[in-house]
Amino acid sequence: MPSTSIQHNSESNISIDNTSSNVSPFHPLLEHIVEPNLSNEILLTPKVNLRNKDFKNDLSNWAIDCNVPQTTVNKLLQIMKSYEVIKTEDLPLDSRTLLAPPKSANIIKRIVIPGHYYHFGLANGIDGLPLSKSSNSQFWPILAYIVNDSKTVFPIGVYHGYTKPKNSDEFLLDFIEEAKCLMTNEIILNDRTLKITIHSCIADSPAKSFLLNTKGHSGYYSCYRCIEEGEYCGSNVCFPYSISKAAKRTHEDYVEMKYEDHHIGNPSKLIELPGIDLVHMVPLDYMHLV
Ligand SMILES: [Zn+2]
Repeated sequence: MPSTSIQHNSESNISIDNTSSNVSPFHPLLEHIVEPNLSNEILLTPKVNLRNKDFKNDLSNWAIDCNVPQTTVNKLLQIMKSYEVIKTEDLPLDSRTLLAPPKSANIIKRIVIPGHYYHFGLANGIDGLPLSKSSNSQFWPILAYIVNDSKTVFPIGVYHGYTKPKNSDEFLLDFIEEAKCLMTNEIILNDRTLKITIHSCIADSPAKSFLLNTKGHSGYYSCYRCIEEGEYCGSNVCFPYSISKAAKRTHEDYVEMKYEDHHIGNPSKLIELPGIDLVHMVPLDYMHLV
């Protein structure tokens, strides 16, 4: 099951532009981390968490920063624990425990009707993922990777329920709040000022329709790029080529719901993200275009 989810997830991810100063309408977003060896965790973890405030954390940081071998850390822990004058109640015996990331320290769990949502921290590609053939148990992950830095996809948050989330804004709440914060505030890491922009939001057509509250791909006015009315060809809605070009959709049209037939609800709260363009930053899903 994990491998299935990883494969599936890779199709739906939010990418983070790593080329900071060039912010085009298509490439807004997340801060820029230049060091190639920086991990996603470092990028997305609030700075306050990068510095530890107690001896246990300082010791852990020291071991990591100085590449101290685990056997050496284990030996040090043993020596310290053999002296009563050293306060070691909070220290584990084994370096693996000492160096392990804090469990669920920054994970937010909340109810998103009709299931639960776990927020790990920023970044996006969204698509429902069935977990079982015998039940409707399903995940809706929000995933991300850093453009031009790493192809490693990491989770921002995961919804679990037996039907998809009822409301996409509720599902995206933590992501939007965190992304807004990261995109509007400069982040200082290793004495460098970084800027975060969102490169694109990737989801297949059904997930896109859910996120943006727009008509599904079988709707007459479902084209995300123009206002052409579709027509049935057999059992599918198609958009035959026509010489007279239909007007193109714009982000402003989406926000203002200029063409009501395209919408099934209010514009997504994703419009609150600075520089976002929900018409051009959401790539077309070719699987539902053929
Ligand atoms: Zn079109």
